[in-house]
Amino acid sequence: MTAARDDLKLLDEALDALARRFDHLPRLSPGTDAGPLREALLAAADRMGDNFPYHHPLYVGQMLKPPHPVARLAYALAMTINPNNHALDGGRASSAMEKEAVAQIARMFGWGDHLGHLCGGGTMANFEALWVARESAPGRLIAASSQAHYTHSRLCAVLGIPFRAIGTDARGRMDLRALEQALSGGDVGTVVATLGTTAAGAVDPLPGILALRGRHPFRVHVDAAYGGYYRLASGLDSEARRAFDAISEADSIVIDPHKHGLQPYGCGCVMFRDHSVGRFYSHDSPYTYFSSAELHLGEISLECSRPGAAAVALWTTMRMFPLERGGAFAGDLDRCREAALELHAALLRSKRFVPLFAPQLDIVVWTVRAASAQEASAQARRLFEAAAQRDLHLALASFPRALVEPCGAIKTWDAEEATCLRACVMKPEHREWMPEILKRLENASKSLDG
Ligand SMILES: *Cc1c(COP(=O)(O)O)cnc(C)c1O
Repeated sequence: MTAARDDLKLLDEALDALARRFDHLPRLSPGTDAGPLREALLAAADRMGDNFPYHHPLYVGQMLKPPHPVARLAYALAMTINPNNHALDGGRASSAMEKEAVAQIARMFGWGDHLGHLCGGGTMANFEALWVARESAPGRLIAASSQAHYTHSRLCAVLGIPFRAIGTDARGRMDLRALEQALSGGDVGTVVATLGTTAAGAVDPLPGILALRGRHPFRVHVDAAYGGYYRLASGLDSEARRAFDAISEADSIVIDPHKHGLQPYGCGCVMFRDHSVGRFYSHDSPYTYFSSAELHLGEISLECSRPGAAAVALWTTMRMFPLERGGAFAGDLDRCREAALELHAALLRSKRFVPLFAPQLDIVVWTVRAASAQEASAQARRLFEAAAQRDLHLALASFPRALVEPCGAIKTWDAEEATCLRACVMKPEHREWMPEILKRLENASKSLDG
């Protein structure tokens, strides 16, 4: 926490630099009364203590990663202006920064020309992509794997699009034969490929999906909300590598800078390869757009008001950490992946636990050896609690029998799914912390015997 305090000195300096640009304005009366402010802030600090320690490497539960200091500071800097990237009138500089930031992400995926913008998160980003899919192929259905984020089936219901779940292989990746069978019906308009499923970090076989377009034309939307930045990593298995390389051929891409991109929440990104989908957004607003003639962000986004600060934070982060293979940011993703491989290897050696499969990115899932599925689920919940008592925070995740049975940890199946343990090792520090994490996991495991 001392680092955060030193960072605040830099923020002071940046705030001064920004304030100087508005020096010509008449002086404002001095700020808020310190007494009530202090009282309220300390009350908030007290309330915030009732949290899991998301920022600490001993937290390996959900997909949570603390924003990098550069993102936090840039966000705080922008808050003095509080720009709104709905329209240039409300966010002139931050809109330009958003366009540059999104263009850099698009370039990471091999796209030059594109249409895209930031939004509230992966849900909103996928919402726009599925809506454009519907407008591009009216009346045709959307298919995604049964391990795709649940937002896809729900969003399809919101949008009135028929949805088809496609089965997966034993590692949670879309099954190409099942997809081909669904395609043979001729009514699939769009296939959602997930590059990094939320539950297990599985990577759908994108090259195989794209190849099926030869026989059955359809759009391809890549949901890389969690996994997208792994395009830059060097330690992927060859199938994942090919899938990430193939993203350039998708029609639309979603990536969440607030997942692996070091940003605070409220930062998703949607991009389309074909500029002309901008026509679907067309609308008339009587009062917002007077300062620009060119298509601006408010005209290519379903959300209206959006935090310009999110764009400033992202732009500043990428200024410090350009999205390059071999760069510092990519190196940190490799460290996450190494941590995941180390955890997986340790689970393979353990007597009590069995990993479901090798991690493709940085999420590891495993089950407890047991006589029955219900017993394995109960043991997983006990271990989850025992680990939390040792300040090691894991997650629980339910997986269908087809994904758990092949690992052979469960003798008889008295349920159609099993509750498993899940660790998201998304912080680069997890690599150095893995021995400590394993020690605590071992201690928690021993406590189940007592
Ligand atoms: C997290 C996630 C989403 C949802 O994104 P939010 O930012 O939580 O709204 C969608 N798809 C995938 C693959 C995700 O991991």
